[in-house]
Amino acid sequence: MERMQRQLLRQFIKTVEQKTTTDEHFIATLESLTGLVWDCACKRPKRSSSTKGVNLNTQRKHGFCELCGNQTEFAAFMSTVAGQHINDVELEDRKKLELSHQYCEVHRPKLANGEWNPTYRQAKRSLTQFNIELKRLTHQCANRSKPHAMSGDELIDSYFFQLMLRLTLQPADKAELRNLARRMVDSKLSDTKKKMLVLKRSGFSQAEIGKRILNAKQQPMTRQAVSKALASVRKEFLL
Ligand SMILES: [Zn+2]
Repeated sequence: MERMQRQLLRQFIKTVEQKTTTDEHFIATLESLTGLVWDCACKRPKRSSSTKGVNLNTQRKHGFCELCGNQTEFAAFMSTVAGQHINDVELEDRKKLELSHQYCEVHRPKLANGEWNPTYRQAKRSLTQFNIELKRLTHQCANRSKPHAMSGDELIDSYFFQLMLRLTLQPADKAELRNLARRMVDSKLSDTKKKMLVLKRSGFSQAEIGKRILNAKQQPMTRQAVSKALASVRKEFLL
């Protein structure tokens, strides 16, 4: 149901929407309902220990990895189990315990050989920034007709506004939004770079951008520094 509503809503926005207040209310209502359906599907049962012989509830949706938009290891495993009619007692308990309810395979804290996973550590260090970017992206795609990222900075808001204009993401596209935020953080698209991209898009030269953007020491940036920073931006994040 959730997937179908998202598809229909996207179609509505592309074909029927007139940008009237009624349309906005209609879209917001559908967004809320899809959100509610998804949250219901993710709800954990009150009793988590399963009775012997009772099939695992493979219909129940499982959560996202805390650090990206992938399913957690356990959720992914459950999808594999689905349809094979394996019941709980047939699963090796040990195997189940090893699977993370919190992280996906890429972000599991320890590798199979027992060593710390560097990808996990790196992602964990940027967790705060990940959540900030996710919030901005979600705000912006909920209200794409004007800058609405609520970052507190006009240029950064403008960046999210322009980026979202060429994407068809909806707030209900949680996995895609989470993955986008993760790629943004992993590719080190800082707020400074976002501001530079907006200024560049507005027609400023690299030297002019440098004068307007301060570096970490609160000094204007050189043209070379601006050029280097802009060259490091991933193609999907260019404006
Ligand atoms: Zn992950």
